[in-house]
Amino acid sequence: MKRLTILGSTGSVGTTTLKIVQDNPHLFTIKALVAGKNIQLMTEQCKQFKPLWAAMEDERSAQELQRRLQYLNLKTQVLVGEKAACELSSLEDIDQVMAAMVGSVGLLPIMSAILAGKQVLLANKEALVMSGHFFMEAISSSEKAQLLPVDSEHSAIFQILPRKIQNKLGVEDLSNHGIKDIILTGSGGPFRTLPLEHWSHITPEQACNHPTWKMGPKISVDSATMMNKGFEYIEASWLFNASPRQIEIVIHPQSVIHSMVRYIDGSIMAQLASPDMKLPIAYAMSWPKRINTSVMPLDFLSINQLNFMPPDFNRYPCLKLAMEAYDKGSVATIILNAANEIAVGEFLKKKVPFIAIPAINQYALESFSCQDPKNVEEVIAIDHLARKHIKNLLPRFTVL
Ligand code: NDP
Repeated sequence: MKRLTILGSTGSVGTTTLKIVQDNPHLFTIKALVAGKNIQLMTEQCKQFKPLWAAMEDERSAQELQRRLQYLNLKTQVLVGEKAACELSSLEDIDQVMAAMVGSVGLLPIMSAILAGKQVLLANKEALVMSGHFFMEAISSSEKAQLLPVDSEHSAIFQILPRKIQNKLGVEDLSNHGIKDIILTGSGGPFRTLPLEHWSHITPEQACNHPTWKMGPKISVDSATMMNKGFEYIEASWLFNASPRQIEIVIHPQSVIHSMVRYIDGSIMAQLASPDMKLPIAYAMSWPKRINTSVMPLDFLSINQLNFMPPDFNRYPCLKLAMEAYDKGSVATIILNAANEIAVGEFLKKKVPFIAIPAINQYALESFSCQDPKNVEEVIAIDHLARKHIKNLLPRFTVL
């Protein structure tokens, strides 16, 4: 029986994780749930899974949750804020932490789980984009901690890699295992064929309507700009200890092949499945075993074609910005993550147009810099400074 804390239990990845727990009560049990402000859903989750602990982002949400749980006579203890999320990620009696908060708020709780030697099921890619170096350093110096990827592309690669690499991600040299490179696939998002002259009119509703995946709003917008693929490129580089020349990005609109690994003898291995996050989440939870999921089996006879094309950087400038930021180093990736989180948030609130997202990101990278961070605390300090700087820039991007 694996005992879990879920960070971001009310989100898309969080609720899918709970569905897997519900379907496999003999394999998993919930010790703690952490979420932002969705009290309604958290109350229902506490009713169903009876965790010992639940934490909300702010005092008001926590008090209201407490009131509702008392009314229902539930014993779950309610906590509040980032410190609570860190405590619940490092509880002595848990084995796994599902890291499915969205954005930079995931950084400290994930670090706390690593330092406590937990298995971290990593969905939150922003934390790795900001602090990959310190995460991987902490993982390699821990005897017990382990990262298991949840992103479908990274799960695909992980599933293909030899067990020795799986056991301690980010440490082994790929070339010692006959691996030439990694091929990351991406659907190209909902605007792959939309003429560029229409991009200034794209609405949040259109951007969140992904053609193959059902996800939370931020990652859906990131998929539409392909910043998501850029972040996945950085994530893959840290997780698999791959250099930029060992990662190729290919657009594959059908989302049937979730990624591939090319070996030096010319052999390419791919992982295929219906696009459903249940599979990579269940694999991370049950690794090294596999468990039944209700994922629709692939019907090869109904797949007419599988297409592949190179990414067009004119269409997806965010992808290029992410690749360049990774080359520049950690300050650039921290700034890019902060700028993108703000830009996507403003777009979702309809305060800036879709095409302002790459413009804000680029301007932030060009107009802010500082010394490399020496630890996670300095990563957070740079993130705060960059956010302050970017918020001051916003008025010039409201109309483009
Ligand atoms: P959602 O927006 O659906 O969910 C985000 C979760 O984070 C919610 O539970 C939200 O709580 C919680 N949260 C937000 N802010 C805080 C905070 N300050 N403190 C505590 N909890 C907070 O996102 P997704 O599930 O789509 O994505 C989560 C992460 O996983 C992202 O980093 C994404 O890139 C990654 N990912 C997602 C995939 C997907 O299919 N969705 C696939 C691969 C990776 P509340 O709702 O209560 O406010």
